[in-house]
Amino acid sequence: MIEQVVASKKVKPIDCQHYINGQYVPSINGKTFENINPATKEVLGTVAEGGKEEIDLAVQAAKRALKGPWKKLSTDERIKVIRKIGDIILERKDELAMLETLDTGKPLSLASSLDIPRAAYNFHFFADYMRGIGTEAFETDSTAINYSVRRPTGVIGIINPWNLPLLLLTWKLAPALAMGNTVVIKPAELTPTTATLLGEICRDAGVPDGVVNIVHGFGPNSAGSALSEHPNIDAISFTGETTTGKIIMKSAAESLKKLSYELGGKNPNIIFADSDLDEVIETTLKSSFVNQGEVCMCGSRIYVERPVYDQFLEKFTAKAKELVVGDPLDSKTNVGALISEEHYNRVKSYIEIAKEEGGEILIGGKTPEELKDKGYYLEPTIIVGLDHNCRVVREEIFGPVVTVIPFDTEEEVIELANDTYYGLSASVWTNNLRRAHRVAGEIEAGIVWVNTWFLRDLRTPFGGTKQSGIGREGGAHGLEFYSELKNICIKL
Ligand code: NAD
Repeated sequence: MIEQVVASKKVKPIDCQHYINGQYVPSINGKTFENINPATKEVLGTVAEGGKEEIDLAVQAAKRALKGPWKKLSTDERIKVIRKIGDIILERKDELAMLETLDTGKPLSLASSLDIPRAAYNFHFFADYMRGIGTEAFETDSTAINYSVRRPTGVIGIINPWNLPLLLLTWKLAPALAMGNTVVIKPAELTPTTATLLGEICRDAGVPDGVVNIVHGFGPNSAGSALSEHPNIDAISFTGETTTGKIIMKSAAESLKKLSYELGGKNPNIIFADSDLDEVIETTLKSSFVNQGEVCMCGSRIYVERPVYDQFLEKFTAKAKELVVGDPLDSKTNVGALISEEHYNRVKSYIEIAKEEGGEILIGGKTPEELKDKGYYLEPTIIVGLDHNCRVVREEIFGPVVTVIPFDTEEEVIELANDTYYGLSASVWTNNLRRAHRVAGEIEAGIVWVNTWFLRDLRTPFGGTKQSGIGREGGAHGLEFYSELKNICIKL
């Protein structure tokens, strides 16, 4: 089936090489690893395995490029190149969506409607946005005038996860390029393909050699750690697990790198009895199970006000049962395969923990019989009967698994929602305007949605509080991170 669809779309999986100084190159020692399709367990191709030496070559190229033709482009020319990257992504949308699906196991319909169009929009958005960025000036009585100018931060290291590979990579790359930086990218080892193609897309758009470099490899003792330790990397923009963020922070400390972190979450989805339950359920299905629940923003802790708890559960489980788990290339599929065998085992282990902790698996918790030998599939899973202190309620699972817990008062649910070391996002459902403002104001998270989920305006700040992140990206906030302000003081 997959071969037929892939062939009909004329897309062939590729062997992934590094992209350094405008050239595709193998690893110096020739080492490679396999890229596996999690929906079929088939080998898609090989991936060059980089380490210290490849990272060093890439950093040298990026450092040279910082002072080269990239710096000499006028703002208009740079905007044109950045817009062109977005244009080419759209021209190659079908191919990129297919390859993203083969790497990740996500439904092709999702890659085509979300991942790839958003990747293109990231470039179009920041190309337009940077034109409006100004700086400040202060007159100090009649003695001096101060004004500030913005300069690129330097060589940026971008380290990425596998769940929204091209979308998240371009979310960092676009503002970094907009501010005139050069970059070295370490894509997730499980999803190397669209990142590899981004090299030639940048080249075709007119990005000079050395401005964008891509080195494949693993995290610890590999390309990831070599990048975060490298003395000539000026800043690291990292998206991934909180525990990885802590390790990178230690290795980045040696050269005091600037850090922007988008980390894990265990996000509350709070449903008050006065909300419109049909609308709640439609969106909660997405915030629970879209992309197999492998989205950092997923609302995996659902709290429902007691008067509508039973009604919510009945409707929610009925709708979740209708979701189609299966072949990501089938247009009817809602939930594809989890990213890897290791991750599948990890997510499944939480279902066992839930049982040990006294939880009841209302639906899901297993692989559909017909998909057992095919790939790493798991049914949408709804767990009830767990106490707020259970591991399944507190730890990030990053799969199609949610817990539902009833609550009685506004104060109680705010306390439960905030009793976590994460603080990425939250959703609050209510038709009471005052309560919406009150609860949204009290929740400890970088983003709170009221009566919606995942609605994004790229001008707004994006990031997490507590152990869900450091700093904000989006709009002017991203451009702050990817540039340095210099004050110039002129004595009059
Ligand atoms: P991960 O932390 O395991 O890996 C992310 C990247 O870091 C990979 O490229 C990996 O190779 C690299 N890495 C791992 N160890 C490293 C080390 N010691 N030094 C340098 N690099 C290293 O995360 P993952 O499993 O790929 O992604 C899932 C996680 O990402 C979840 O926790 C999820 O919540 C989080 N995430 C957060 C956001 C956000 O915006 N906040 C978005 C997407 C995913």
